[in-house]
Amino acid sequence: MASTRLTRQKQEFRRFLEINRDKEMTVAEMAELLKASGSDMGIATVYRAVNRLEGEGILIKTVTGAQGKSAYRYAANDETVRSCHRVFCTCCGKTVDLTYKFTDKLEKNVSDMTGFSLTDHQLMFYGLCSDCR
Ligand SMILES: [Zn+2]
Repeated sequence: MASTRLTRQKQEFRRFLEINRDKEMTVAEMAELLKASGSDMGIATVYRAVNRLEGEGILIKTVTGAQGKSAYRYAANDETVRSCHRVFCTCCGKTVDLTYKFTDKLEKNVSDMTGFSLTDHQLMFYGLCSDCR
């Protein structure tokens, strides 16, 4: 039954991230919030989930606070990030969605180059925002 529990926790964690998508949180803060909402996910489980989602590009690591703690912000999930383009400030973590449409041509080029029939993509630009420059 361990896998069922794992699946449920995965779903629970993704829902939690959806709800808190505007927040930047450390692993400890996530574990605390989850516990407060009645979850049985311990900090070790949250830590593993965060690592996995960071690897998948769903969570983005940012450094926050005077102690330079690692915090994470929710960047994407496969259902909500369809053809999404953003620019991300590597200093303060500010994210701006880009409305400029250059994707059709880009997808065509990638498709022509690789022979792939594309179903989805994500594009993130990194830099410094006007406040941090
Ligand atoms: Zn900035």
